[in-house]
Amino acid sequence: MAQLTDDCFAHGGRLMRTDEALELLKEKLECVTSTETLATGNCLGRVLREDIIAPGNIPPHDNSAVDGYAIYFDDLEPEGPTRLRIAGRQAAGQTPVEPPLRGEALRIFTGAVMPEGPDTVMMQEDCTLEDGDVIIPAGIKRGANRRDAGEDVRAGSRVLHSGQRLRAQDLGQAAAVGRSELQVSRPLRVALFSTGDELREPGQDLVTGAIHDSNRYTLNGLLKSLGCEVSDLGILRDNAETIISALDKATENHDLVITSGGVSVGEEDHVKHAVETLGKMHAWRLAIKPGRPIALGQIGAIPFVGLPGNPVAVVVTYLVFVRPMLLRLMGGNITSPQSFPVRADFSYRKKKERREWVRASLRPNGDGSWKAEKFPRDGAGILSSLVESQGLVELPEDLTQVEPGMLVDYLPFSEVIG
Ligand code: AMP
Ligand code: MG
Repeated sequence: MAQLTDDCFAHGGRLMRTDEALELLKEKLECVTSTETLATGNCLGRVLREDIIAPGNIPPHDNSAVDGYAIYFDDLEPEGPTRLRIAGRQAAGQTPVEPPLRGEALRIFTGAVMPEGPDTVMMQEDCTLEDGDVIIPAGIKRGANRRDAGEDVRAGSRVLHSGQRLRAQDLGQAAAVGRSELQVSRPLRVALFSTGDELREPGQDLVTGAIHDSNRYTLNGLLKSLGCEVSDLGILRDNAETIISALDKATENHDLVITSGGVSVGEEDHVKHAVETLGKMHAWRLAIKPGRPIALGQIGAIPFVGLPGNPVAVVVTYLVFVRPMLLRLMGGNITSPQSFPVRADFSYRKKKERREWVRASLRPNGDGSWKAEKFPRDGAGILSSLVESQGLVELPEDLTQVEPGMLVDYLPFSEVIG
């Protein structure tokens, strides 16, 4: 298994822009997961680790796109209907029958191999039958309703790329070129902790000052939806020794350790100290809202990510930084999620030099277009804002004021979760 270079997250400690932080991650991280060969049907969501080349054309033969009659276009009367004798029948999956002669039609079905000679297929709905003959109306184009060999995929072309995450249609494509097995990354093994004396498990009663741990559940879902194998290792109390021994143990059989909470600069924030004791730790001060800082470090050769405690900051930092990081560690390509320009339906003031994400949903304008409506409360602790919203609006560094009607970038959660 590959290992990261020592102290790969070192940087000058300056406030970092999002682009700069992502560039650094790309530069410093490499794939740490080995590969395995799996049945194609079991590869959904995995990172493909080989290029898939089509050994033959798809479709392999010229074939009919409809149920109908294969004919010679040159036999047709240019102005009126043409009557042709039906010479035979060709169904899908059948070896080719004797081709029709000039002046004849062949009954043919969708997916059946085109006979030698006829160049065009007339749809059965447009034909009439009379005494065993077919009557073809005028007006069809030469070559209509036929699919050419290789029109979908040419023999020798690359249909899937190493590094892509396999979606349902990609599995279909692999199967279409005949692959029963694929080489994919093993799942990244992630150790997940929450930290904080105030945290209780769902199901436990809350004493004054306590809250239920939600971050671990959110993160567990985010990680699993990206194909990680998650060890849910519970809540760590705000105690240096406990955290040090738990983190140390977690590195034994995981590829990555993730915590939330305990990484700001409060006296009770013991995570930084623990990672420093065990290895190397760097607080990346990101010019973002919500969510700074995040702690990146290494315990031995195992990368460590300390996310902020606030539930919204957890999700935003995960989507923006941790997700690309995980893809990189799994040997995947880092593709920027597709956002869409829509008109803002809100006013919002923001600090210059900082990238911000506000929670928003699309609402119809009534004329077929959409506008982004901001969730009314902005606090980084308001988890219900993520539940009630469909996505985020990303506001770039140089912007200071959003006005209604302005074009903004809307990022649906569906682009980045899963
Ligand atoms: P911290 O970064 O530890 O100072 O936490 C910042 C805020 O996030 C505090 O209000 C914490 O109570 C809250 N918080 C931290 N961890 C969690 C968690 N696992 N679930 C819900 N809230 C949390
Ligand atoms: Mg805390």
